[in-house]
Amino acid sequence: MAEETIFSKIIRREIPADILFQDELVTAFRDINAQAPTHILIIPNHLIPTANDIKASDEKALGRMMTVAAKLAQEEGIAQDGYRLIINCNKHGGQEVFHLHMHLVGGQSLGPMLS
Ligand code: 5GP
Repeated sequence: MAEETIFSKIIRREIPADILFQDELVTAFRDINAQAPTHILIIPNHLIPTANDIKASDEKALGRMMTVAAKLAQEEGIAQDGYRLIINCNKHGGQEVFHLHMHLVGGQSLGPMLS
């Protein structure tokens, strides 16, 4: 059984976070250490530790993460100029929190993909 992370406490609103969206499947909140004018994390409400742990039964939540990303990009006013959606996996991917999360990053030009 995977260990809960701080993100589970954010989902349950046990610790503060700037939550922008929440439904029965996903939660979206601003990253505490924003790397760009818009930096939002979109996560499934149930614990999936890494991208390696994704199962077919997670597809509904993963699809909702994409829909919410598109909605929040519109609301943040960054849809037209563009943005980046990133999921880091394990050590080489730079993953620090082991509750799958998608970064929605934008509001400025982000440069080459791997920089
Ligand atoms: P990773 O490197 O795992 O893809 O990204 C983890 C992200 O979670 C980082 O960008 C980090 O700033 C963010 N983060 C870590 N702890 C917290 C927290 O307690 N609250 C919020 N809002 N973001 C967090």
